[in-house]
Amino acid sequence: MTTFVPCIDLGHGGASLGAVRPATSAWPEIREKDINLELGRRLNASFAGSEIVPVMTRDGDYDPSWAARYRIAKEAEARFVLSLHANFHPTASYIDGAEAYRYPGNDETETIGHRWLASMPSELRTDKVFAATDLPGPDDDWLQRPRVILEAFRELPVLVAEVGYLSNDYDAGYLMSPWALDAVVCSLRLAIVEAARLYSR
Ligand SMILES: [Zn+2]
Repeated sequence: MTTFVPCIDLGHGGASLGAVRPATSAWPEIREKDINLELGRRLNASFAGSEIVPVMTRDGDYDPSWAARYRIAKEAEARFVLSLHANFHPTASYIDGAEAYRYPGNDETETIGHRWLASMPSELRTDKVFAATDLPGPDDDWLQRPRVILEAFRELPVLVAEVGYLSNDYDAGYLMSPWALDAVVCSLRLAIVEAARLYSR
């Protein structure tokens, strides 16, 4: 049986909280690392019994080094890396929706990014697939973050999936609804199926 091994990279963990939305009267504090873990576990479980056999960079509340994340993907001979994140804008809370980041010059990851975003639930859907070189210069650490993730996996094709903005009330409200993560997992699953189609030929 032919199998396809994708690497599901769960962003942050442990002391690396990722984006944090402070507690409000509506919700407790929301931490990106927890959303990434929940999404990653559900996404991995969704492939049970499938020819797609993912490997995860973490399955708990800890933060593997970039080298460890790369090693996990490499040792599993992963053909594609999907890195799960949630976004946060420090000043512009009106910015919303999912975004995908890819390494420039990789057409397959651009295709996968558009396919992923098109299948996202309408509350988070956009068509924002950015190449790392489209991002502003190295003095802006916030916007350089996706490039750091992409470069950590070196030659492996990577798509960074930012599922929404925790700084946006509407996105946060949707992501905190009980059915939202299942809907997001369905779209992430489709992105990996698309990767299997593109990279197994
Ligand atoms: Zn992140």
